[in-house]
Amino acid sequence: MKPVPYWLDTATPFSGAELGPVEGSVDVAVIGGGLTGLSAARALARGGASVAVLEKGKVVGEASGRNGGHVNNGTAHNFAALVESLGLDRARAIYHAFDEAVDTMERIASEEGIACDFRRSGKIKLAAKPEHYEKIARGFELLQREADPEARLVPREALRQEVGSNAFFGGILHPRSAQMHVGRFGAGLAEAATRRGAHIFEDAPVTTMRREAGGHRIVTARGTLRAKQVLLATGASKLGPMYFRRRLVPLGSYVIVTEPLGPDRIAAIMPTQRTATTTRIIGNYFRTTPDGRLVWGGRARFALPSQASDAKSGRVLEAQLRETFPQLGPVRVDYCWGGTIDATQDRLPRAGEQDGIFYATGYSGHGVQMSVHMGEAMAAVMGGRPEANPFRDLQWHPVPGHFGPPWFMPFVGLYYRVMDRIS
Ligand SMILES: Cc1cc2nc3c(=O)[nH]c(=O)nc-3n(C[C@H](O)[C@H](O)[C@H](O)COP(=O)(O)OP(=O)(O)OC[C@H]3O[C@@H](n4cnc5c(N)ncnc54)[C@H](O)[C@@H]3O)c2cc1C
Repeated sequence: MKPVPYWLDTATPFSGAELGPVEGSVDVAVIGGGLTGLSAARALARGGASVAVLEKGKVVGEASGRNGGHVNNGTAHNFAALVESLGLDRARAIYHAFDEAVDTMERIASEEGIACDFRRSGKIKLAAKPEHYEKIARGFELLQREADPEARLVPREALRQEVGSNAFFGGILHPRSAQMHVGRFGAGLAEAATRRGAHIFEDAPVTTMRREAGGHRIVTARGTLRAKQVLLATGASKLGPMYFRRRLVPLGSYVIVTEPLGPDRIAAIMPTQRTATTTRIIGNYFRTTPDGRLVWGGRARFALPSQASDAKSGRVLEAQLRETFPQLGPVRVDYCWGGTIDATQDRLPRAGEQDGIFYATGYSGHGVQMSVHMGEAMAAVMGGRPEANPFRDLQWHPVPGHFGPPWFMPFVGLYYRVMDRIS
């Protein structure tokens, strides 16, 4: 079993990084070479700005290359709950921002000719308990009328046509959702950004940033750069003012990928080959790959990723997979990895400007499509169009008692386990 992401192992790595020192001055420094940073860099360079991307490791080496490869529309929340907390207009606008984010990914892949197996597969959200299906059904009319006319309820009797498992009690189908090979998309996006004129520096961790007349002075391990504007696109990293550390909670999430299963076994477990998620708080997300593997992810454990933690989490995921699809019998696991999610308390992204630094973050596990969309949106915001930011009106309060390391996660994990049992 390889302890690396399947997506990065099966993509040709980006080869256009700058070899020289980080020096001089640019219009915009983008800190972080994940999907947010690369998408912003491409859009900014295309608009005529001089752009440097400063990446601590390799492009898409963190969450952007370590995820489940779901490009889903819809929010993490039940739409009715979102309406209750934000009002109908805001909830609808946020829901539609996720629709637009999937469209943005498809458009960029097509504009830049990125071969990444993008496919509008649709997503099925699976009720792990009868009460969960009842809740989905109760909110369905509102969702369909106000936000997602294409959504469809799938009662338990019809579910076998979607997923070959007895573990679920119905579901909801969102046909606009998609899937893709994130490693190939990420490398292609980096190539596209450099083709448009952006300079990408890998192995260039930013250590300090300071405001100075006319912009910012940014110190990296490979030299110092001056920039008129800065976009912080560092995902769940600790870099940045305490403002962000108090508001973002880093969460571990884990993925395993099986050996190729062959067409018969794939047809038996996922005949429609959509992206699938489950309704438990500590739930699972899964999909197949074009070469017939099952990609199976979940939170598994409340620990941050490390080699030992990933392996332990992989064993938890394997047990869940076997319980969901016992008909598969013994299955070899070829890949296992973990990654860190940048979560906000309400699981909605945040973007804007804080102390002269632009930022987009907090995708809370729904960021493959939204990071790409927000990269473009923030390029527009930095060019003087604040209305391009769909999250501009959201308040962002600090998490009480949180100053960096998420000391409270074991307690939250315990609480979630109890909630999963009783609700
Ligand atoms: C296991 C897992 C599964 C997921 N599954 C899905 C999914 O199926 N669908 C979905 O929509 N979302 C999913 N997500 C979430 C999604 O991957 C992220 O929201 C998205 O990739 C965030 O992109 P980003 O560019 O903002 O952050 P990142 O990809 O984290 O990029 C930030 C970059 O900043 C760099 N950086 C950090 N500090 C510094 C520094 N000091 N100097 C320079 N560079 C720095 C990092 O090295 C990193 O490359 C998943 C996440 C994980 C971890």
